[in-house]
Amino acid sequence: MSEHGARIPTGFFQGLQLCLPFVITVAPVRHGVPTTGAVEAVAEAGGLGILIGSGTDQAVETFRGVARSLSLREAAAFRPTAWADHLASAVAAHDVVIVPMSRDGADLAPRIAIALERPLLPNVVEVGQERIVATRLNGGLADVYERTVPVVVLFKPGSRGVVRDPLMTVKIDRRSIEPTGVLADPVLVDDVPPDSRMVLLTEADRVVAAGAGVEDEEGVGLTDRLAAVLGAGVGATRVVVDRGWLPFDRQIGTTGAMVDPDLYMAFGISGATQHLSGIGDPRHVISINTDPSCAMMLRANVAVVCDARSTLRSLLQMLEP
Ligand SMILES: Cc1cc2nc3c(=O)[nH]c(=O)nc-3n(C[C@H](O)[C@H](O)[C@H](O)COP(=O)(O)OP(=O)(O)OC[C@H]3O[C@@H](n4cnc5c(N)ncnc54)[C@H](O)[C@@H]3O)c2cc1C
Repeated sequence: MSEHGARIPTGFFQGLQLCLPFVITVAPVRHGVPTTGAVEAVAEAGGLGILIGSGTDQAVETFRGVARSLSLREAAAFRPTAWADHLASAVAAHDVVIVPMSRDGADLAPRIAIALERPLLPNVVEVGQERIVATRLNGGLADVYERTVPVVVLFKPGSRGVVRDPLMTVKIDRRSIEPTGVLADPVLVDDVPPDSRMVLLTEADRVVAAGAGVEDEEGVGLTDRLAAVLGAGVGATRVVVDRGWLPFDRQIGTTGAMVDPDLYMAFGISGATQHLSGIGDPRHVISINTDPSCAMMLRANVAVVCDARSTLRSLLQMLEP
Protein backbone atom coordinates (compact mmCIF):
# COMPACT_ATOMS: atom_id res chain seq x y z
CA MET A 1 0.00 0.00 0.00
CA SER A 2 1.20 3.52 -0.75
CA GLU A 3 0.60 6.42 1.61
CA HIS A 4 -2.65 7.38 -0.16
CA GLY A 5 -4.15 4.09 -1.19
CA ALA A 6 -3.84 0.81 -3.00
CA ARG A 7 -1.43 -0.26 -5.68
CA ILE A 8 -2.80 -2.10 -8.71
CA PRO A 9 -2.35 -5.79 -7.81
CA THR A 10 0.45 -7.20 -9.97
CA GLY A 11 -1.36 -10.43 -10.84
CA PHE A 12 -4.25 -8.47 -12.34
CA PHE A 13 -2.09 -7.33 -15.24
CA GLN A 14 -0.39 -10.57 -16.20
CA GLY A 15 0.00 -10.81 -19.95
CA LEU A 16 -0.10 -7.08 -20.55
CA GLN A 17 2.68 -5.49 -22.58
CA LEU A 18 5.54 -3.72 -20.81
CA CYS A 19 5.05 -0.05 -20.06
CA LEU A 20 6.18 2.48 -22.68
CA PRO A 21 6.96 6.00 -21.49
CA PHE A 22 4.37 7.84 -23.57
CA VAL A 23 1.11 9.56 -22.84
CA ILE A 24 -1.52 10.72 -25.34
CA THR A 25 -4.99 12.22 -25.04
CA VAL A 26 -7.98 11.28 -27.18
CA ALA A 27 -10.73 13.92 -27.17
CA PRO A 28 -14.14 13.63 -28.85
CA VAL A 29 -15.38 16.74 -30.68
CA ARG A 30 -18.95 17.62 -31.68
CA HIS A 31 -19.65 20.36 -34.23
CA GLY A 32 -16.28 22.00 -33.57
CA VAL A 33 -16.66 21.93 -29.76
CA PRO A 34 -14.22 19.69 -27.89
CA THR A 35 -15.70 17.59 -25.10
CA THR A 36 -15.55 19.05 -21.56
CA GLY A 37 -12.06 18.83 -20.07
CA ALA A 38 -10.37 18.19 -23.43
CA VAL A 39 -7.86 21.08 -23.26
CA GLU A 40 -6.81 20.15 -19.74
CA ALA A 41 -6.43 16.50 -20.74
CA VAL A 42 -4.21 17.44 -23.71
CA ALA A 43 -2.12 19.57 -21.34
CA GLU A 44 -1.77 16.56 -19.02
CA ALA A 45 -0.43 14.55 -21.98
CA GLY A 46 2.29 17.15 -22.58
CA GLY A 47 0.40 18.69 -25.50
CA LEU A 48 -0.11 15.51 -27.54
CA GLY A 49 -3.64 14.71 -28.65
CA ILE A 50 -5.99 13.13 -31.13
CA LEU A 51 -9.23 15.02 -31.84
CA ILE A 52 -11.97 12.80 -33.23
CA GLY A 53 -15.46 13.81 -34.36
CA SER A 54 -17.12 16.59 -36.33
CA GLY A 55 -15.48 20.01 -36.84
CA THR A 56 -12.01 18.95 -35.65
CA ASP A 57 -10.31 21.72 -37.68
CA GLN A 58 -12.51 24.32 -36.02
CA ALA A 59 -11.73 22.83 -32.58
CA VAL A 60 -7.95 23.30 -32.96
CA GLU A 61 -8.19 26.98 -31.95
CA THR A 62 -9.37 25.93 -28.46
CA PHE A 63 -6.05 24.15 -27.89
CA ARG A 64 -3.76 27.09 -28.79
CA GLY A 65 -0.95 27.48 -26.27
CA VAL A 66 -1.52 23.99 -24.88
CA ALA A 67 -1.22 21.49 -27.77
CA ARG A 68 2.10 20.75 -29.46
CA SER A 69 0.82 18.08 -31.81
CA LEU A 70 -2.76 17.27 -32.77
CA SER A 71 -3.93 14.51 -35.05
CA LEU A 72 -7.37 15.27 -36.49
CA ARG A 73 -9.79 12.44 -37.36
CA GLU A 74 -12.91 13.92 -38.91
CA ALA A 75 -16.06 11.82 -38.42
CA ALA A 76 -19.68 12.88 -38.85
CA ALA A 77 -21.63 10.93 -36.24
CA PHE A 78 -20.59 9.89 -32.72
CA ARG A 79 -19.69 6.19 -33.06
CA PRO A 80 -17.63 5.26 -30.01
CA THR A 81 -17.14 1.58 -30.88
CA ALA A 82 -15.99 2.29 -34.44
CA TRP A 83 -13.79 5.13 -33.20
CA ALA A 84 -12.19 2.94 -30.50
CA ASP A 85 -11.50 0.29 -33.11
CA HIS A 86 -9.88 2.88 -35.35
CA LEU A 87 -7.92 4.52 -32.55
CA ALA A 88 -6.53 1.33 -31.02
CA SER A 89 -3.57 1.08 -33.40
CA ALA A 90 -2.90 4.85 -33.23
CA VAL A 91 -2.58 4.89 -29.44
CA ALA A 92 -1.19 1.38 -28.77
CA ALA A 93 2.38 2.65 -28.41
CA HIS A 94 1.39 4.97 -25.56
CA ASP A 95 1.38 3.48 -22.10
CA VAL A 96 -1.22 5.95 -20.83
CA VAL A 97 -4.18 6.94 -23.00
CA ILE A 98 -6.05 9.86 -21.43
CA VAL A 99 -9.71 10.47 -22.26
CA PRO A 100 -11.56 13.43 -20.66
CA MET A 101 -14.20 12.26 -18.16
CA SER A 102 -17.11 13.91 -19.97
CA ARG A 103 -20.24 12.14 -21.23
CA ASP A 104 -18.74 11.42 -24.66
CA GLY A 105 -15.39 10.58 -23.08
CA ALA A 106 -17.03 8.12 -20.69
CA ASP A 107 -18.64 6.38 -23.68
CA LEU A 108 -15.40 6.20 -25.63
CA ALA A 109 -12.79 5.32 -22.97
CA PRO A 110 -14.10 1.85 -21.98
CA ARG A 111 -14.27 0.89 -25.64
CA ILE A 112 -10.65 1.96 -26.18
CA ALA A 113 -9.69 -0.01 -23.05
CA ILE A 114 -11.41 -3.11 -24.46
CA ALA A 115 -9.84 -2.65 -27.90
CA LEU A 116 -6.38 -2.39 -26.29
CA GLU A 117 -7.12 -5.04 -23.62
CA ARG A 118 -6.06 -2.65 -20.88
CA PRO A 119 -7.51 -1.70 -17.50
CA LEU A 120 -9.53 1.52 -17.32
CA LEU A 121 -8.92 3.94 -14.43
CA PRO A 122 -11.75 6.44 -13.79
CA ASN A 123 -11.65 9.67 -11.73
CA VAL A 124 -7.98 10.34 -12.53
CA VAL A 125 -6.71 13.75 -11.41
CA GLU A 126 -3.00 13.45 -12.15
CA VAL A 127 -0.84 11.52 -14.60
CA GLY A 128 2.72 11.81 -13.32
CA GLN A 129 6.00 10.36 -14.57
CA GLU A 130 5.81 7.47 -12.15
CA ARG A 131 2.29 7.45 -10.76
CA ILE A 132 -1.33 8.04 -11.57
CA VAL A 133 -3.63 9.56 -8.95
CA ALA A 134 -7.39 8.93 -8.93
CA THR A 135 -9.96 10.23 -6.47
CA ARG A 136 -12.65 8.32 -4.68
CA LEU A 137 -15.79 9.49 -2.87
CA ASN A 138 -15.97 12.84 -4.67
CA GLY A 139 -12.40 13.78 -3.94
CA GLY A 140 -12.40 12.70 -0.32
CA LEU A 141 -9.78 9.96 -0.79
CA ALA A 142 -7.10 9.26 -3.36
CA ASP A 143 -5.81 6.04 -4.94
CA VAL A 144 -2.24 6.20 -6.18
CA TYR A 145 -1.23 3.75 -8.91
CA GLU A 146 2.32 3.07 -9.96
CA ARG A 147 2.84 3.55 -13.70
CA THR A 148 4.01 0.03 -14.34
CA VAL A 149 1.45 -1.20 -16.87
CA PRO A 150 -0.36 0.37 -19.84
CA VAL A 151 -3.75 1.85 -18.95
CA VAL A 152 -6.58 3.96 -20.29
CA VAL A 153 -7.62 6.72 -17.89
CA LEU A 154 -10.68 8.93 -17.58
CA PHE A 155 -9.34 12.34 -16.58
CA LYS A 156 -11.56 14.46 -14.33
CA PRO A 157 -12.21 17.98 -15.71
CA GLY A 158 -11.11 20.73 -13.34
CA SER A 159 -8.38 18.62 -11.70
CA ARG A 160 -5.31 20.51 -12.82
CA GLY A 161 -6.35 23.63 -14.73
CA VAL A 162 -4.64 24.94 -17.86
CA VAL A 163 -1.68 27.29 -18.29
CA ARG A 164 -1.30 28.51 -21.89
CA ASP A 165 2.03 29.31 -23.50
CA PRO A 166 1.42 32.08 -26.08
CA LEU A 167 4.62 31.10 -27.95
CA MET A 168 3.69 27.45 -28.41
CA THR A 169 3.02 26.32 -31.97
CA VAL A 170 0.95 23.28 -32.85
CA LYS A 171 1.75 20.63 -35.45
CA ILE A 172 -1.37 19.29 -37.18
CA ASP A 173 -1.89 16.14 -39.16
CA ARG A 174 -5.13 14.80 -40.63
CA ARG A 175 -6.00 11.13 -40.99
CA SER A 176 -9.11 9.45 -42.32
CA ILE A 177 -11.03 7.00 -40.17
CA GLU A 178 -10.91 3.38 -41.23
CA PRO A 179 -12.66 1.15 -38.70
CA THR A 180 -12.36 -2.57 -39.28
CA GLY A 181 -14.43 -5.69 -38.55
CA VAL A 182 -18.04 -6.01 -37.37
CA LEU A 183 -18.86 -3.11 -35.07
CA ALA A 184 -21.92 -2.66 -32.90
CA ASP A 185 -22.64 1.04 -32.40
CA PRO A 186 -25.98 2.60 -31.55
CA VAL A 187 -27.58 4.43 -34.46
CA LEU A 188 -27.68 8.19 -33.95
CA VAL A 189 -31.27 9.28 -34.55
CA ASP A 190 -30.98 12.97 -33.71
CA ASP A 191 -28.55 15.47 -32.22
CA VAL A 192 -30.64 17.61 -29.87
CA PRO A 193 -29.29 20.92 -28.51
CA PRO A 194 -28.68 20.58 -24.77
CA ASP A 195 -30.97 22.02 -22.11
CA SER A 196 -28.29 23.79 -20.06
CA ARG A 197 -30.24 23.30 -16.84
CA MET A 198 -30.06 19.54 -17.23
CA VAL A 199 -26.35 19.23 -18.11
CA LEU A 200 -24.24 17.24 -15.71
CA LEU A 201 -23.37 19.73 -12.98
CA THR A 202 -19.77 18.59 -13.24
CA GLU A 203 -19.74 19.85 -16.84
CA ALA A 204 -21.56 23.18 -16.32
CA ASP A 205 -19.62 26.41 -16.95
CA ARG A 206 -22.21 28.35 -14.98
CA VAL A 207 -24.19 27.21 -11.96
CA VAL A 208 -27.15 28.97 -10.35
CA ALA A 209 -27.74 27.36 -6.96
CA ALA A 210 -30.62 27.55 -4.50
CA GLY A 211 -30.39 27.29 -0.73
CA ALA A 212 -32.94 27.32 2.07
CA GLY A 213 -33.10 31.13 1.75
CA VAL A 214 -35.17 30.86 -1.44
CA GLU A 215 -37.85 29.69 1.03
CA ASP A 216 -39.99 27.30 -1.04
CA GLU A 217 -40.60 25.54 -4.35
CA GLU A 218 -41.69 28.78 -5.94
CA GLY A 219 -38.29 30.27 -5.03
CA VAL A 220 -36.57 27.25 -6.58
CA GLY A 221 -38.69 27.79 -9.71
CA LEU A 222 -37.35 31.36 -9.97
CA THR A 223 -33.79 30.00 -9.67
CA ASP A 224 -34.58 27.53 -12.43
CA ARG A 225 -35.85 30.32 -14.71
CA LEU A 226 -32.72 32.41 -14.09
CA ALA A 227 -30.55 29.39 -14.92
CA ALA A 228 -32.44 29.02 -18.20
CA VAL A 229 -31.78 32.60 -19.32
CA LEU A 230 -28.14 32.47 -18.24
CA GLY A 231 -27.50 29.07 -19.86
CA ALA A 232 -26.52 27.74 -16.44
CA GLY A 233 -26.98 24.44 -14.61
CA VAL A 234 -29.25 24.41 -11.55
CA GLY A 235 -27.61 23.40 -8.29
CA ALA A 236 -28.83 23.15 -4.70
CA THR A 237 -27.80 22.66 -1.11
CA ARG A 238 -28.63 19.52 0.78
CA VAL A 239 -31.39 21.34 2.66
CA VAL A 240 -33.19 22.09 -0.62
CA VAL A 241 -32.79 18.49 -1.77
CA ASP A 242 -33.86 17.05 1.59
CA ARG A 243 -37.03 19.14 1.40
CA GLY A 244 -37.79 17.57 -1.98
CA TRP A 245 -37.65 20.85 -3.91
CA LEU A 246 -34.99 19.50 -6.32
CA PRO A 247 -33.72 15.98 -7.05
CA PHE A 248 -30.51 14.60 -5.54
CA ASP A 249 -28.53 14.93 -8.78
CA ARG A 250 -28.71 18.73 -8.26
CA GLN A 251 -27.05 18.61 -4.83
CA ILE A 252 -23.60 20.19 -4.63
CA GLY A 253 -21.15 19.37 -1.88
CA THR A 254 -19.41 16.63 0.04
CA THR A 255 -22.24 14.18 -0.42
CA GLY A 256 -23.39 15.55 -3.78
CA ALA A 257 -21.70 16.66 -7.00
CA MET A 258 -18.31 18.37 -7.13
CA VAL A 259 -18.56 21.21 -9.65
CA ASP A 260 -16.00 23.59 -11.11
CA PRO A 261 -17.80 26.30 -13.09
CA ASP A 262 -16.56 29.74 -14.16
CA LEU A 263 -19.58 31.36 -12.51
CA TYR A 264 -21.29 30.25 -9.30
CA MET A 265 -24.41 32.16 -8.16
CA ALA A 266 -25.66 31.28 -4.69
CA PHE A 267 -29.18 32.33 -3.68
CA GLY A 268 -29.93 32.02 0.05
CA ILE A 269 -27.00 29.69 0.77
CA SER A 270 -25.16 29.94 4.09
CA GLY A 271 -21.95 28.34 2.77
CA ALA A 272 -21.53 25.37 5.11
CA THR A 273 -18.19 23.56 4.71
CA GLN A 274 -19.97 20.54 3.25
CA HIS A 275 -21.41 22.77 0.51
CA LEU A 276 -18.35 24.96 -0.19
CA SER A 277 -16.14 21.90 -0.56
CA GLY A 278 -18.12 21.01 -3.67
CA ILE A 279 -18.11 24.30 -5.59
CA GLY A 280 -14.55 24.00 -6.94
CA ASP A 281 -12.62 27.16 -7.75
CA PRO A 282 -14.98 29.38 -9.80
CA ARG A 283 -13.60 32.58 -11.29
CA HIS A 284 -16.74 34.47 -10.24
CA VAL A 285 -18.80 33.76 -7.13
CA ILE A 286 -21.92 35.86 -6.60
CA SER A 287 -23.85 35.40 -3.38
CA ILE A 288 -27.27 36.83 -2.55
CA ASN A 289 -28.11 36.57 1.13
CA THR A 290 -29.74 38.61 3.90
CA ASP A 291 -26.84 37.77 6.23
CA PRO A 292 -23.76 39.77 5.13
CA SER A 293 -21.38 37.79 7.32
CA CYS A 294 -22.23 34.19 6.43
CA ALA A 295 -19.49 32.00 4.89
CA MET A 296 -21.00 32.10 1.39
CA MET A 297 -20.90 35.93 1.40
CA LEU A 298 -17.29 35.89 2.60
CA ARG A 299 -16.39 33.48 -0.22
CA ALA A 300 -18.06 35.68 -2.90
CA ASN A 301 -16.45 38.17 -5.31
CA VAL A 302 -19.79 39.97 -5.38
CA ALA A 303 -21.89 39.79 -2.20
CA VAL A 304 -25.41 41.20 -2.48
CA VAL A 305 -27.21 41.75 0.82
CA CYS A 306 -30.78 41.30 -0.30
CA ASP A 307 -33.79 39.01 -0.25
CA ALA A 308 -33.12 36.09 -2.61
CA ARG A 309 -36.57 35.92 -4.20
CA SER A 310 -36.92 39.63 -4.87
CA THR A 311 -33.41 39.65 -6.43
CA LEU A 312 -34.39 36.71 -8.62
CA ARG A 313 -37.59 38.46 -9.73
CA SER A 314 -35.70 41.67 -10.59
CA LEU A 315 -33.08 39.75 -12.58
CA LEU A 316 -35.78 37.83 -14.45
CA GLN A 317 -37.60 41.06 -15.27
CA MET A 318 -34.39 42.39 -16.84
CA LEU A 319 -33.20 39.23 -18.54
CA GLU A 320 -36.20 37.16 -19.62
CA PRO A 321 -37.32 37.83 -23.19
C1 LIG B 1 -22.33 14.52 6.65
C2 LIG B 1 -22.94 15.75 6.05
C3 LIG B 1 -22.87 15.90 4.68
C4 LIG B 1 -23.44 17.03 4.09
N1 LIG B 1 -23.37 17.17 2.74
C5 LIG B 1 -23.83 18.30 2.18
C6 LIG B 1 -23.72 18.53 0.77
O1 LIG B 1 -23.22 17.69 0.01
N2 LIG B 1 -24.20 19.68 0.28
C7 LIG B 1 -24.77 20.64 1.06
O2 LIG B 1 -25.18 21.69 0.53
N3 LIG B 1 -24.89 20.44 2.38
C8 LIG B 1 -24.46 19.30 2.95
N4 LIG B 1 -24.63 19.12 4.28
C9 LIG B 1 -25.45 20.09 5.03
C10 LIG B 1 -24.69 21.36 5.40
O3 LIG B 1 -24.03 21.16 6.61
C11 LIG B 1 -25.66 22.54 5.54
O4 LIG B 1 -26.66 22.20 6.47
C12 LIG B 1 -26.33 22.96 4.24
O5 LIG B 1 -25.38 23.14 3.22
C13 LIG B 1 -27.06 24.28 4.47
O6 LIG B 1 -27.86 24.57 3.37
P1 LIG B 1 -28.43 26.05 3.13
O7 LIG B 1 -27.30 26.97 2.97
O8 LIG B 1 -29.40 25.92 2.01
O9 LIG B 1 -29.28 26.31 4.43
P2 LIG B 1 -28.98 27.19 5.71
O10 LIG B 1 -27.69 26.84 6.33
O11 LIG B 1 -30.21 27.09 6.55
O12 LIG B 1 -28.83 28.67 5.16
C14 LIG B 1 -29.84 29.41 4.61
C15 LIG B 1 -29.25 30.74 4.22
O13 LIG B 1 -30.26 31.52 3.61
C16 LIG B 1 -30.15 32.85 4.09
N5 LIG B 1 -31.48 33.46 3.98
C17 LIG B 1 -32.56 33.29 4.74
N6 LIG B 1 -33.62 33.98 4.27
C18 LIG B 1 -33.16 34.59 3.17
C19 LIG B 1 -33.77 35.44 2.21
N7 LIG B 1 -35.06 35.80 2.31
N8 LIG B 1 -33.01 35.88 1.18
C20 LIG B 1 -31.70 35.55 1.07
N9 LIG B 1 -31.09 34.76 1.95
C21 LIG B 1 -31.81 34.27 2.97
C22 LIG B 1 -29.67 32.73 5.51
O14 LIG B 1 -29.05 33.94 5.92
C23 LIG B 1 -28.72 31.57 5.40
O15 LIG B 1 -27.42 32.04 5.09
C24 LIG B 1 -24.08 18.00 4.89
C25 LIG B 1 -24.10 17.83 6.27
C26 LIG B 1 -23.55 16.73 6.85
C27 LIG B 1 -23.61 16.58 8.34
